[in-house]
Amino acid sequence: MARLALRDVCKSFGSRQVLKNISFQVEDGELVTILGPSGCGKTTMLRVIAGIETVDSGEILIGDRVVNDLPPKDRQVAMVFQEYAIYPHMDVFDNIAYGLRAHGAPKRLVDEKVRQAAKMLGLADKIHRSPGELSGGELQRVALCRAIVRDADVFLFDEPLSNLDPKMRAQVRADIVRIHKTLSLTGVFVTHDQVEALTIGSRVILMNSGEIAQIGRPEDLYYEPANTYVASFMGAPGMNLLEARLTRTGERILAEVGDSTLELCGTSMDQALRAFNAAKVDSYVAVILGIRPEDMRFGQSEIPASETNQIRGRLRLIEALGTERALHFSLVGSNKGEEFIVVTPSRASRADLDKEFNVICDMTRVRLFDHETGEAF
Ligand code: ATP
Repeated sequence: MARLALRDVCKSFGSRQVLKNISFQVEDGELVTILGPSGCGKTTMLRVIAGIETVDSGEILIGDRVVNDLPPKDRQVAMVFQEYAIYPHMDVFDNIAYGLRAHGAPKRLVDEKVRQAAKMLGLADKIHRSPGELSGGELQRVALCRAIVRDADVFLFDEPLSNLDPKMRAQVRADIVRIHKTLSLTGVFVTHDQVEALTIGSRVILMNSGEIAQIGRPEDLYYEPANTYVASFMGAPGMNLLEARLTRTGERILAEVGDSTLELCGTSMDQALRAFNAAKVDSYVAVILGIRPEDMRFGQSEIPASETNQIRGRLRLIEALGTERALHFSLVGSNKGEEFIVVTPSRASRADLDKEFNVICDMTRVRLFDHETGEAF
């Protein structure tokens, strides 16, 4: 295996810039996921690493070698696609062996490697079946075997689970995590599914229109989003982003949100101090206040009258999300027209539509963003 690095990589198709100054490094034995909405450049990123597309500028390194000018076959890269790309006229064994034979591997080595890989992915007893007799999950396992027998330096996975049903998806996902650990693969795994990105990658690269919005461990992106794009993309539903005005009274910093006043504490205090410094004022600073739906609770009866850090909201919609519910409140006193807060309460409480409630915020979990740029303070 080897390290993979991209340095200031740019790629355009005609006038459309699809990759904009992309730089990151995947360490030897690390599996990193690339996450982002459709069209943000994920597949193009894999294609330039594999050499299927050329870059306009920047460098791609595998190990210590710049591979920009190498054709795909000389890059030591193995790729697994969404469509399994299995040859229908060959049996499982021959499909797995295909790349090895094409590289002239001796028969005994081919036999040993194919059987080893098939065993690792639970296909040992299906080795002489034809692809037509296999399920989608088994076909994708054949594709995984074909990639791992190659002993490539870097493995690229382009949404390999997208065509599978949810149960099979979870199983093949676990297979990928297991073979990554066992073989210490260096890999890049592309997906638009958050759960997949967070469970597979030790680090996640979140893309936004050809740019990297944030690179970090899954918990960094979730709890310390670098900007409002990351904050709203991560989580389902995403972070609430509310217009707020910060004021200072002595040691205390307050945030006015709609009709309500919240008192900052912990890391959001430090962020607020940076916001005052950046604005070079000591009175009012307009910011975006972020808080996750699970860091709020509500209910008229359960909230003592003395409790602070409440936002007044009118309940507009109750959405069933499988095991939990998302409650959509319109913020009372918002000067932005209709501004919504989504709350996913941990326990079910009675909630009537169109009634007003106090929504209590866990102020230790608040994050502040620049009103103009959306960057976190
Ligand atoms: P998806 O999740 O839908 O697969 P993606 O994030 O992988 O999307 P890409 O496939 O990398 O996105 O495409 C990024 C943009 O580049 C898209 O707007 C796409 O239409 C464009 N694009 C990709 N390949 C080409 C090409 N060969 N010629 C012209 N435009 C292209």
